[in-house]
Amino acid sequence: MWRGAGERRRPAHFSSGGMGLLDGLVDLRSDTVTRPSPEMRRAMAEAEVGDDVYGEDPTVRALEETGAALVGQEAALFVPSGTMGNQVAVLTHTQRGDEVFCEAESHIYYYEVGDIAALAGAQPRPIPGSRGRFTAADLRRAVREPNIHFPRPRLVCLENTHNRAGGTVWRPEEVDAVVAAAHELGLVVHLDGARLFNAAVALGVPAERLARGVDSVMFCLSKGLGAPVGSLLCGPADWIERARKERKRLGGGMRQAGILAAAGLYALRHNVERLAEDHANARWLAGQLARIEGLRVDPGSVETNMVLVGVPGPAAAFSQALKERGVLANPSGPETLRLVTHLDVDRAGCERAVEAFRSVTRELAA
Ligand SMILES: *Cc1c(COP(=O)(O)O)cnc(C)c1O
Repeated sequence: MWRGAGERRRPAHFSSGGMGLLDGLVDLRSDTVTRPSPEMRRAMAEAEVGDDVYGEDPTVRALEETGAALVGQEAALFVPSGTMGNQVAVLTHTQRGDEVFCEAESHIYYYEVGDIAALAGAQPRPIPGSRGRFTAADLRRAVREPNIHFPRPRLVCLENTHNRAGGTVWRPEEVDAVVAAAHELGLVVHLDGARLFNAAVALGVPAERLARGVDSVMFCLSKGLGAPVGSLLCGPADWIERARKERKRLGGGMRQAGILAAAGLYALRHNVERLAEDHANARWLAGQLARIEGLRVDPGSVETNMVLVGVPGPAAAFSQALKERGVLANPSGPETLRLVTHLDVDRAGCERAVEAFRSVTRELAA
């Protein structure tokens, strides 16, 4: 019998935290795969909302104020993704033809669909780093004296933690040195802090300390912090007003976005300190995997929630074999897999992952 809307039962996922297509698998592909907890969903359901394009969503405002304060900036802008946050920053900092310095394996250069060129019309200039970091001297070498032939050097992008390097951390004094050199050279600095809180928790310093002096900083709510959607781009209030216009141009002006911002606020209030558990799980995983013959893992290189694992043979085939054993991991190189720990994988999940690696490696050696 047909039942009216009022009689319909609440969908199971409303209270349970959700049934996903991959339930039962240990998903170490990324910390983006986390799903909102029942408490986070409750905060979302109860959020006060308004039209944020009119500046009338109180929950978005609260999130922006909270986020800006955490990274020591005046103001913030809620954006749907880290990529949009980075690109709004590039658009707001640069003009066509400007030169943008970024580490050669940085997300903003490697994974953002050529946006620096395609959207801002600026020219990326990759600086090869060491485990994702470069020095003030590297930057000084890359920045050229003014000359009619050269683009205008304008923007430096840093990434902390560094994704492709395996979640490596920039220390405060390393950031300070590059920021000082950039400013001396007349450049501005954007910090891609998609996982800035992982860096802060790993070092035991406030996130604000790692963003000190930068001209803008972006961090993601949708990765290890566990929110379903969203990032914050933070900077001086007048700069954020200009960024707001760029966000609108990209179609990123959202309406009753407080539903999403509530998840971000919940994440900032409850899920920052617990990142230490993910780091401990990553270290544990690395230690266990290093003992399996045939794998190449350096436990000493694990600084946050990522483990790079050298595997025998093509990473794609190894990944497939793991999947058949209930474990998901993405290749990050021809013979390298990347494992990312997060709040939906506990120690038991990590133990299952180690078992799966052992089994695949044994089968390959046989
Ligand atoms: C994930 C990530 C981004 C982009 O975030 P999306 O929300 O996936 O667009 C930017 N920078 C780094 C370092 C990242 O890891």
